[in-house]
Amino acid sequence: MGEEPCFTGSRGSGTIFFTGCSCHCFFCQNWQISNGHGDGRVVSAEEFHHIALSLVECGVHNLNFVTPDHFWPHIAALCRRLRDEGVQIPFLFNSSGYQLPAMVAEYAALMDIFMPDFKFADPALARRVLRDERYPEIALEALRIMVAEKGFLEPFDPSGQHPAKRGVLVRHLVLPGLVDNTLRVLNLLRAEFGRWLPISLMSQYKPTPAARQHPDFDRHLSCEEYQTALAHAQALGFENLLVQPLATTDDFFPDFQRPKPFRGNP
Ligand code: SF4
Repeated sequence: MGEEPCFTGSRGSGTIFFTGCSCHCFFCQNWQISNGHGDGRVVSAEEFHHIALSLVECGVHNLNFVTPDHFWPHIAALCRRLRDEGVQIPFLFNSSGYQLPAMVAEYAALMDIFMPDFKFADPALARRVLRDERYPEIALEALRIMVAEKGFLEPFDPSGQHPAKRGVLVRHLVLPGLVDNTLRVLNLLRAEFGRWLPISLMSQYKPTPAARQHPDFDRHLSCEEYQTALAHAQALGFENLLVQPLATTDDFFPDFQRPKPFRGNP
């Protein structure tokens, strides 16, 4: 239930988290599984299918593959099998935005929804966080193809009464002390895709143990910073904007060493 209401609806989004991520952001909230610490477990193709089917049978609105890129052959095989078995709920590609543009059409052949991050418009910041200043250009090109393949998210219903079926929604996490990066991201997205691009403007940054080693990244986002970002998005005229209240609990900050990583889930 920790995803945006467009995806969680009333019965939840069936998230499956994969170990590893090509970005290795030092502030990653999923650091226990994403940044090479090795948490997670190996599953066979049969067990993977069983996990996915169990979620479908729970009634989730979609299957949500989180940082799926490097397991793509396995995910593609799973998705084909599920479709052959009559599973009709949307498949959602939940990713960093740092996707090889040449792969996106292949993903789009099986996925219904893309939910990429757009983290950085500032190449120097991208270099600092994930050691590749090309992130803005790579993410932009990948996003262009995602939008060309699937269009914008439909339906876009922030109430969650009508969960999304297909299309693209972009996530952007506002970072403490780096609101200028957010303003540049919003300007870039507005210029490229127009005001109807669905955007989730996230406020949930929380310093992890690794992030505390980096000056600027060792604190929460302030209310003023988020308000500045939100005011800019509104001034740019974005019509499909999801706003995230500043978190008052850790309910959806994961600990993957717990049997139930997200306390907020039922
Ligand atoms: S792209 Fe997302 S999941 Fe990957 S390391 Fe960065 S914050 Fe974590």
